[in-house]
Amino acid sequence: MKETAFIYTDAYLDYDYGSSHPLQIKRLKLTYELIKAYGLLDLPSVQFIPTIKAEEEHLTLFHSKDYLDVLKQADEGHLKGNANSFGLGPGDNPIFPGLYDWSLWVTGATLQAVDFVTDGKGEIAFNIAGGLHHALRSRASGFCYINDPVIGILRLLDRGKRVLYIDIDAHHGDGVQKAFYETDQVLTISLHESGYTLFPGTGHEYEMGRGKGEGYSINLPFPPYTDDELYLWAFEEIVPELILAFSPDVVVTQLGVDTFYNDPLTNLHLSIEGYEKVLRRIKELAPKWVALGGGGYNISNVVRSWTLAWAIMNEVELNEELPESFLKKTAGMEIEEKKLRGGQKPTLHTQNNDNRMEMERVVGYLKEKYFLKIKG
Ligand SMILES: [Zn+2]
Repeated sequence: MKETAFIYTDAYLDYDYGSSHPLQIKRLKLTYELIKAYGLLDLPSVQFIPTIKAEEEHLTLFHSKDYLDVLKQADEGHLKGNANSFGLGPGDNPIFPGLYDWSLWVTGATLQAVDFVTDGKGEIAFNIAGGLHHALRSRASGFCYINDPVIGILRLLDRGKRVLYIDIDAHHGDGVQKAFYETDQVLTISLHESGYTLFPGTGHEYEMGRGKGEGYSINLPFPPYTDDELYLWAFEEIVPELILAFSPDVVVTQLGVDTFYNDPLTNLHLSIEGYEKVLRRIKELAPKWVALGGGGYNISNVVRSWTLAWAIMNEVELNEELPESFLKKTAGMEIEEKKLRGGQKPTLHTQNNDNRMEMERVVGYLKEKYFLKIKG
């Protein structure tokens, strides 16, 4: 049994992107409640670690001072000066009271997760609030203000660790890829819906890194309606072999759950069973694991999937029925499914041959172009 840490605080609930924004922070609280109700914080191998905010100096490891100044000004909740030119404003990256503070909490939890696995305390740490993978050095993007995965990975590098990053969010992990595009110290692998049909429009298989980093950015873009079977096939063809070849000390994952057939923002067609299989494989393959949250806009899916993920990290099998205490506490709060893996199965959207052929092409391309480079 591996030693694990769950990092969380109810302080997250002090912040709000807005009632009509897809990213609802209450999904974190609901996930925590389900995990607790299943008894998954009471296991002898589990440490519950309350989040501590990051310091500004941690953010400057990646973000520019100009940008951080603008975020601090926006923290009061009002648009000031040239915030628009830093990606802030109505829409994806709204200015809400405490947004800078919110970012400090999220990043703090990621740094605590990194510390847990590098200070010899344990092997796996999960920050469900983290994984804000789109933020750029001087720009907010895709609901993300501060790129906590990048800042966490930078701390790992600082400690001499070899880092492999896997991003299974439906959206391309563009901010993380960009940050490490020219280094061979971090191998980034992103599996996502193709940039031809989904934000941020990048993550094509031919984006491969530059200079020393050539071959160290790997992208698996999937066509809309990709199902579990095709997704898992491509994952198996590419990811395990790369982990073995690169031999990381730590695997950092962004575990977005917006890949599901009923996610309101995306077009992939995974089910919770597919997600579960991917998580089980990562568990087998990662020597140490910093797990971060990510996207996910169907709250019922998010809460159940991340609870299942945490159970897998702790090698526990859960009852299919969600605990009664949880259902009572969360009545009327968008928990539509009463069973852990319950729910309608995705209708196979004519799992067409075109999708299969496209992914065979992508996998073939990646193997031919990149694998030799990583293996040296
Ligand atoms: Zn996403």
